[in-house]
Amino acid sequence: MSEKKNQNDFKRKTATIETTATPQKNQEHTNEREKQNQQIKKRMKKIKHKIAIISGKGGVGKSTVAANLAMAFATRGYEKRVGVLDADITGPCIPKILGVRDKKLQAGPPGLFPAVGPFGIKVASMDYLLPTDESPVIWRGPLKMRLIQQFLSDIVWGDLDFLFIDLPPGTGDEPLSIMQLLPEMDGVVIVTIPSEVSQIVVKKAVTFSRKLKIPIIGILENMSGFVCPHCREQTEIFQKGGGEKIAKDLVVPFLGKIPIDPKICQDSDKGTPFIIKHPNSVASKVFMNMVKKIEVFLLKHNQNEIVESVKQ
Ligand code: ADP
Repeated sequence: MSEKKNQNDFKRKTATIETTATPQKNQEHTNEREKQNQQIKKRMKKIKHKIAIISGKGGVGKSTVAANLAMAFATRGYEKRVGVLDADITGPCIPKILGVRDKKLQAGPPGLFPAVGPFGIKVASMDYLLPTDESPVIWRGPLKMRLIQQFLSDIVWGDLDFLFIDLPPGTGDEPLSIMQLLPEMDGVVIVTIPSEVSQIVVKKAVTFSRKLKIPIIGILENMSGFVCPHCREQTEIFQKGGGEKIAKDLVVPFLGKIPIDPKICQDSDKGTPFIIKHPNSVASKVFMNMVKKIEVFLLKHNQNEIVESVKQ
């Protein structure tokens, strides 16, 4: 089957939400969804750890963090063992940040193979399914949820150590469906900026994760101050310390602060790996440090799970 046809099938299947429901069609849908859920389980079993990156608001650097975190892990012993699922359906930008926008999802008998980026990072994104840059995704919740479900069931990730999932901002339908489809999610990283406006929505993200019983790995404060490259003076563009404060108030681990660094934006726009080009920057050190923090988190989390299962 040609790649184009396979991708079109994918889109058509996703778009066939019934407008004239009949008991028979409802039953067919239920059967198809059940089949997909089984497929998701099968595929996800091959991935050791799934970590979602969430934020209360858009534009705080969630995708930037997801992409750089994936690169940090891939360069710290997990080369070719990391994937990124760009589940930000209406604003997908992971392929751009990872420099793989010119690649495609490859169709094959077992499903759609992700694009492969730096350090063998596997990437699946809605971006690959949109015909042009101008094409918006104007779908209501149920269609987006069907797409997410299909992404999870049809993408052939293979064996991975880590899958980072870049979720759309907020606590709406799509983050909820991903969390429900992947109840074994290891945890979430919550990205915020220091402002009070952002703190209000971070509380919602924390409550969302707690209600769904997804462990919170921690809060990361992005866009935390800007050091002028000319006079070295630091300016707190979005206020100071909001992420750290909210982490303390909500008793959630604090993962660090990433300053505003124009090189992050430039590298994301060019699709060059920031952490490799600027290994000594404050931001790169925070990303590398997060690898250790997440490894420790997973170790503790697994130990707790073992203790719990022994108790039962
Ligand atoms: P979100 O996924 O939360 O909507 P993005 O990751 O797309 O946010 O980031 C929004 C914009 O901000 C992008 O252009 C990105 O390159 C830029 N950006 C993110 N973090 C930083 C930072 N620490 N310094 C400079 N630019 C940043």
